[in-house]
Amino acid sequence: MSIATNLQSIKNKLPTHVTLVAVSKTKSNDKIMEAYNTGHRVFGENKIQEMVSKWQALPKDIHWHMIGHVQRNKVKYMAEFVSLIHGVDSLKLLKEIDKQAKKYNRTINCLLQMHIAEEETKFGLDKDELDALIKSEEFNQLQNIHITGLMGMATFTDDENQIRKEFQNLKCVYDEISNLLPNISILSMGMSGDYTIAIEEGSTMVRIGSSIFGSRKT
Ligand SMILES: *Cc1c(COP(=O)(O)O)cnc(C)c1O
Repeated sequence: MSIATNLQSIKNKLPTHVTLVAVSKTKSNDKIMEAYNTGHRVFGENKIQEMVSKWQALPKDIHWHMIGHVQRNKVKYMAEFVSLIHGVDSLKLLKEIDKQAKKYNRTINCLLQMHIAEEETKFGLDKDELDALIKSEEFNQLQNIHITGLMGMATFTDDENQIRKEFQNLKCVYDEISNLLPNISILSMGMSGDYTIAIEEGSTMVRIGSSIFGSRKT
């Protein structure tokens, strides 16, 4: 099936309040343009260097989302253009994003990444760390970042009940902290394998790669 057909059939399944991030990591500029030419503008990458090259080569009205783990020393390369950073999980990183955003006179939108999976390897904050972060004075002094919501990844498993539980936990945390952060509006959860469950559990942003562009060689 073509990229255009895949995109359309996914979009047909998404409620209007859910934003689709087309995850184009490892995929060529030609393939991204196939999606672009259907009118799609929101793309996600997980490596800063790769995203920068694509930003330089491709139309400037693309909204680039950084969905991968962010190394602090590379924030400077994307600060000029990145539209949303999904994987923010420390004050140190937020401070660096704030500092780099200032240089471009921008406010950079960020999601705080929560650890919801069983796996030890996934990045993210737990609830206590999240509370401590958003109540800290240093956090509240940052001027050039805007926290627009939360992001999380479920355990890689066939057990739908477990995935659902993890998404429910994230939604709970989201609802709780919307008291402290009244401006949040994005709950980024759901990938090719689990986005329908994620939407049922309250996702407002799904990050879908292989179901649009085909599987990635690893
Ligand atoms: C690669 C990736 C995705 C997309 O995964 P698919 O299974 O190809 O849809 C979503 N989120 C993150 C953080 C990713 O790294």
